[in-house]
Amino acid sequence: MSISSPSLINTPNGYIPASQRIPAMARPFVSDRALKTLDLVEKFVEEECIPADAVFRQQLGQSTAERFTNHPQIMEDLKAKARELGLWNMFLPKNHFENEGAGFSNLEYGLMAECLGRSETASEATNCSAPDTGNMEVFAKYGTEEQKRQWLDPLLKGQIRSAFLMTEPQVASSDATNIELSITRDGQYYVLNGQKWWSSGTGDTRAKVFLVMGKSDPSNPDTYKQQTVVAVPADTPGITIRRMLSVLGYDDAPHGHGHIFFNNVRVHKSNVILGEGRGFEVVQGRLGPGRIHHAMRSVGAAEKALEYFLARINDPRKKPFGKQLSEHGIMLERVARSRIEIDAARLSVLNAAIMIDQGSAKDARKEIAEVKVQVPAMLFDVVDRAIQAHGGGGVSQDFPLASMFAGARTMRIVDGPDEVHILQLGRNENKRGKVLLDKIAAQKQRTEELFKQYKMVQRDVLQLDRRSGNASRL
Ligand SMILES: Cc1cc2nc3c(=O)[nH]c(=O)nc-3n(C[C@H](O)[C@H](O)[C@H](O)COP(=O)(O)OP(=O)(O)OC[C@H]3O[C@@H](n4cnc5c(N)ncnc54)[C@H](O)[C@@H]3O)c2cc1C
Repeated sequence: MSISSPSLINTPNGYIPASQRIPAMARPFVSDRALKTLDLVEKFVEEECIPADAVFRQQLGQSTAERFTNHPQIMEDLKAKARELGLWNMFLPKNHFENEGAGFSNLEYGLMAECLGRSETASEATNCSAPDTGNMEVFAKYGTEEQKRQWLDPLLKGQIRSAFLMTEPQVASSDATNIELSITRDGQYYVLNGQKWWSSGTGDTRAKVFLVMGKSDPSNPDTYKQQTVVAVPADTPGITIRRMLSVLGYDDAPHGHGHIFFNNVRVHKSNVILGEGRGFEVVQGRLGPGRIHHAMRSVGAAEKALEYFLARINDPRKKPFGKQLSEHGIMLERVARSRIEIDAARLSVLNAAIMIDQGSAKDARKEIAEVKVQVPAMLFDVVDRAIQAHGGGGVSQDFPLASMFAGARTMRIVDGPDEVHILQLGRNENKRGKVLLDKIAAQKQRTEELFKQYKMVQRDVLQLDRRSGNASRL
């Protein structure tokens, strides 16, 4: 990989590496080692992964059976290259996982994830793809030594994949207290009955473990202690992956999103995660960092959409009404808006990452919720503008924009829909309402005192007192 490679050129003056494009606010928090790795990640993604995306797609095959069974060779080759370059497991933050990860902070990984988000293959190639990242964090944080040996070790090595099963078709799952899959105790075993859907990753035959959230104590008066998460080996008898779900027409193979039935599925009690009745804690611990990973990758995806947008409006073959698209002011306005929105979202995401690094995901709840809402909306708009500039081609398979658009749309639903985060943010912000009312009243009171002190009578700045037949005395 040479620096002069045409796959890297990103400005009229040549290549400005990712390490030199870090916002000023974030620079002091990025180590020299992370800067070097960031540039390596960028080169790996731009030169190796993006060109490999189409090959990966074709190697998957065509029929549903093929696409959810094949494991494209190009992915294994990319994984080998990534490991050689030391680009592996960068997502596990160093302040919480000293030994398991690559030793970077959330902020440092955030900058790398921006690069990964530009390619379909890059996240898996570097063992940084969802839902494994969140699941590895669960095992690393809450797993017993035996669970870590059985599941975390092969996940960290990229030998197996995993899934997190919470959502159910028959209930409003954005409120997880509604979850119904039953988990009952039978001696040394738990028995699971029910169904799950939108189980991402379950289409991949390498997904060997499902983290399943169910109801173990439905009569507990504390509705947040009724749930338990158990690690279920994917080959346990009684599990049926009935079908895969499409996302705006895309099957997202090979991982996909399964609709799964559990019929008297028995797992040993040692498979419980953290403890019976502690399912909510597990989910909360998992979703915080996961939400920000999506946001980090989305910033990179938006940057890629803008690159396609810019390339298209400067394509000399495309001149509607005698002018190149870049000469039509409306297009430049859309470019500028996209630039502003990406940069603003990027600052919010990096700020959330810094907040997590300096405390925990819990301390950064507000910032995480903000980016969970802000970033998908930004990505949606930026991709939408890029599609528009491409005309019919924009919604076709000839450009990556249509699938990016599908991804951007679903992000407003996954990990809790927009409304849930917006309501929470609104509620928390509104808690200040009463004290602010008092504060403003206190300031008015002080103003009145100052008027008295200066022997002045307070009057309205627009006071007119105009009466019929009289001119204003103002
Ligand atoms: C591509 C994709 C991948 C996914 N991957 C996974 C996965 O791996 N594992 C998993 O368990 N789940 C996964 N999901 C499921 C996802 O997390 C849920 O769809 C989401 O939490 C919403 O739950 P629901 O579908 O049951 O919708 P519901 O809970 O029925 O909500 C429907 C709608 O109601 C509205 N709403 C909800 N709450 C409020 C509120 N408080 N105020 C106002 N309006 C509200 C929102 O508009 C919401 O979209 C995935 C979903 C998609 C699309």
